[in-house]
Amino acid sequence: MTSTPHTIRIHPNDNVAVVVNEGGLPVGTALPGGPTLVDSVPQGHKVALCEIPKGAEVRRYAVVIGHAAESIPAGAWVNEQRLVMPQACRLDQAPASDPPANLPALEGHTFEGYRNADGSVGTRNLLAVTTTVQCVAGVLEFAVKRIRETLLPQYPHVDGVVALTHSYGCGVAIDAPDAIIPIRTLRNLASNPNFGGEVMVLSLGCEKLQPERLLPPGSFPIVDQRNSLDVVCLQDEQHVGFMSMIDSILRQAQVHLERLNRRRRETCPASDLVVGVQCGGSDAFSGVTANPAVGFATDLLVRAGAAVMFSENTEVRDAVGQLTRRAASPAVAEAIVRELAWYDAYLARGQADRSANTTPGNKKGGLTNIVEKAMGSIVKSGLGPIHGVLAPGEKLKQKGLIFAATPASDFICGTLQLAAGMNLHIFTTGRGTPYGLAECPVIKVATHNGLARRWHDLMDLNAGRIASGEESIETVGWELFHQTLAVASGQKTWAERWGLHNDLVLFNPAPIT
Ligand code: CA
Repeated sequence: MTSTPHTIRIHPNDNVAVVVNEGGLPVGTALPGGPTLVDSVPQGHKVALCEIPKGAEVRRYAVVIGHAAESIPAGAWVNEQRLVMPQACRLDQAPASDPPANLPALEGHTFEGYRNADGSVGTRNLLAVTTTVQCVAGVLEFAVKRIRETLLPQYPHVDGVVALTHSYGCGVAIDAPDAIIPIRTLRNLASNPNFGGEVMVLSLGCEKLQPERLLPPGSFPIVDQRNSLDVVCLQDEQHVGFMSMIDSILRQAQVHLERLNRRRRETCPASDLVVGVQCGGSDAFSGVTANPAVGFATDLLVRAGAAVMFSENTEVRDAVGQLTRRAASPAVAEAIVRELAWYDAYLARGQADRSANTTPGNKKGGLTNIVEKAMGSIVKSGLGPIHGVLAPGEKLKQKGLIFAATPASDFICGTLQLAAGMNLHIFTTGRGTPYGLAECPVIKVATHNGLARRWHDLMDLNAGRIASGEESIETVGWELFHQTLAVASGQKTWAERWGLHNDLVLFNPAPIT
């Protein structure tokens, strides 16, 4: 990084720019072609490029991110205290669908994946053990450790074993209307493409979410002759003592491991990818470097025929007008509004709104409010039309660019994207998070050089080179596209190499009893 003052203005209509220099810029710095700083401005924070009178619009991304709370002189630090957040745009006034043309097809890109009987493709070959209730989590953890130590060495073509544990299953209002969200999330998680169509369930016995309710006939593949769901039930009378439970789990696990171990990677078109994009620990560079590079890669993946999901309701809410305009049909625009209206109502029940999203770290990193954060977040979706909308916990059944309506919480969004059928995750971070998932590989993209340098063995790609002028958005976007194909083919991410993963976290908007 040079010591020359360096700022980025996203759009010619913007009246603020973001300071790129590490350590920020001191008061008195003359910006090339711009004002002289009248405040010291931290890295990632905004500087007023001209005088902004009290009440006037503050624009970034050519969008009004707020109004000046007081008169802001040219060269001043535009921080939270100096900005009044605009009202959320009304959903009933969202513009009609007027989509851009479909992007031109991109042929010839492939990866090596595990093809499943239902046509989906895994990027990993994992044994997953599904659970009906949290009560069994400790027993399963013990059994999984033993499977790893004693069984997996005999099955070299199996990448690992994952316990699909969660906090649901009992002590919940299971018949409440919104209970369908956690239940279908768990149901659809069990058939994630990375689990090879093998379904094994661990149940306690007395829980509300009985195995037949979790996985009713027809909701899971039958891969053996027994023609029934493979359930180990801890309260079965055959179990005398803890070790007999563990023996049952290991015996059944072996049946699935035998079949999984016979699978081999084969060449699959890039259109078999189901990619979820997400950001977490965002800063002002997220919307300048990593998210635009992800957006470029999103367009490449969609052009190659893949499905790409973008999510995070509270981070798209202020961009609803951009989304409904990009909807491929009026029905898709209606579905976007329906999902966001449902989420507005959900937040209102808790006396919150979308502004509850921003964190202290976001603000320290230069993001003043949710409007600014949303404009930087939405660019992950690229430029093409939006082909479909998915409600939380639903399974994805189409290709193209999809708005999967989920909370922005990293773990909940990741869990819901897994339930939708995600076989690869792309995650951008500015403040830094060691986020990972056991169920699918996560490519982590750093927004600035400082993070990429400090977390050199946690971040998989450095988009900070865009801010420092070393690379273009297009170059990093292509790098990410090729890295996506390599990781889908088995190349390990840093989180996989260290064995880092977060818990599955369900979205349960229904009451607890
Ligand atoms: Ca997130």
